[in-house]
Amino acid sequence: MNTPVEVSANPLHSSEHDHQKCVSEALGTAEHLCVVRGVQLTPIRHQVLELIWESHKAVKAYELLDRIKPLQSAAKPATIYRALDFLIEQGLIHRVESLNAFVGCSSSGHQHEQLLLICKHCNEVEERPATEVMQALSQELDQAGFIVHSKAIEIHGICTKCVALYDEQDG
Ligand SMILES: [Zn+2]
Ligand SMILES: [Zn+2]
Ligand SMILES: [Zn+2]
Repeated sequence: MNTPVEVSANPLHSSEHDHQKCVSEALGTAEHLCVVRGVQLTPIRHQVLELIWESHKAVKAYELLDRIKPLQSAAKPATIYRALDFLIEQGLIHRVESLNAFVGCSSSGHQHEQLLLICKHCNEVEERPATEVMQALSQELDQAGFIVHSKAIEIHGICTKCVALYDEQDG
């Protein structure tokens, strides 16, 4: 008899981790950074950040607008975009270019490059520092003499949790 395969717990998945902790840490860091930097985390910026942090899924701007409308009926797309621009500038969220969507950053306290693993099934995005990969890439870019403005690597596929789900369905 087969023993069930132990799927290594991915800290990202809400079913397997204390997401409230992710949220309170992210919001706490954001509030702290904004004070230190002397920038305003206005109520609307705070609200957008909180909505993005509802999960680790990539969220689109119009989805944020839909969710914010009941809270702030005056909110317009431009309001959301301005808040998103601010949050990106401050490194509190990342833009997922290939999806034109946004995800909260869990290491917003420092400047970093990121490798984003995007699950096509559940839409969750895992951020990994992938330091060695990024160093190798920087070397390559230096050799090419290419001036880099932004660098983010986005990989699409299926996360460990969804792989486990597929396995259950098959077996
Ligand atoms: Zn979480
Ligand atoms: Zn990040
Ligand atoms: Zn998934």
